[in-house]
Amino acid sequence: MVEFFLSERDGRKFALDGYIYNLEREYPTHSCWFCEKRHSKEDSCKARVVLNNGEVSIKVEHNHDADYFYVEKRILLNKLYKQAEISKDPPSKLINDAMVDATEACKAVLPSKEVMTANICRRRRMLLPERPTTSSDEPKERPIVGTYPKKAAHFFLSKRSRGKMALDGYIFNLEREYATYSNWYCENRHATPEKCRARAVLQDDEISVKVGHNHDSDQPSVEKRIVLSKLYKQAESSVEAPSNLIAEVLEGVSDEVKKSLPSKEVMAASISRKRRLAHKDDQKELDNTEIFDSELDLVNVINKLIKEEQP
Ligand SMILES: [Zn+2]
Ligand SMILES: [Zn+2]
Repeated sequence: MVEFFLSERDGRKFALDGYIYNLEREYPTHSCWFCEKRHSKEDSCKARVVLNNGEVSIKVEHNHDADYFYVEKRILLNKLYKQAEISKDPPSKLINDAMVDATEACKAVLPSKEVMTANICRRRRMLLPERPTTSSDEPKERPIVGTYPKKAAHFFLSKRSRGKMALDGYIFNLEREYATYSNWYCENRHATPEKCRARAVLQDDEISVKVGHNHDSDQPSVEKRIVLSKLYKQAESSVEAPSNLIAEVLEGVSDEVKKSLPSKEVMAASISRKRRLAHKDDQKELDNTEIFDSELDLVNVINKLIKEEQP
């Protein structure tokens, strides 16, 4: 059965037999659609279909398998989020309604209810009219200017190994390091529509926040960022199995943060990807022709290097 739906950006889509198609062009008598994996980076699929009076004719076949549960999940989430924008029902009711007819297999691959609730709230917030930035009748309360002991902050590295500092539910980027102190700015400095001008100075064992934030703190999301950063940095420097790394890093993490994290499968896939990328860099120095496809390859290369080092 052909099921039409709209993408997040209101692009027209339809699902059929475990595949999803995007509208390419509409004619008075028929319409042309292409597989949504056409722009997939790994393996672009050239499948095309023509829709004529509800009849679908396949012009080019797919180069990948159908995935019914993935398609079901996409349509369910899509309907849920569209519904959230037009209804005023609480997220829990919307989610329950959306899941009524879902298959167990689909339910198993859905994000957690907390993640769906957070997405619903985010979408609804985005629909709210922007508040004027110079409203004088409503003074902003951000009592975040002041001093903190250095140990109140958590320091970690961004994906690109830049210095980051988590403090009181906010994240700062390292701007510049001097002999006796360092300057930090809120990572929302380049945020749209409203830049945050918060700044902090770290000197000796004290952090002074010089300019306060123009947005709320978000401790759970800061914690989540720290956990993921730890996990991925560790993945690059160790050869432990992803499942062990994940278990190690999740130790002592609060349930609230755990629930907001990506699924273990997604984290394991990210670890493997990061390792592949890291190996690509190493590899240039080792051998210009070798490509590592798996962790096993890396282990083999390391063993080879160890042997070469021995006289
Ligand atoms: Zn395809
Ligand atoms: Zn800020």
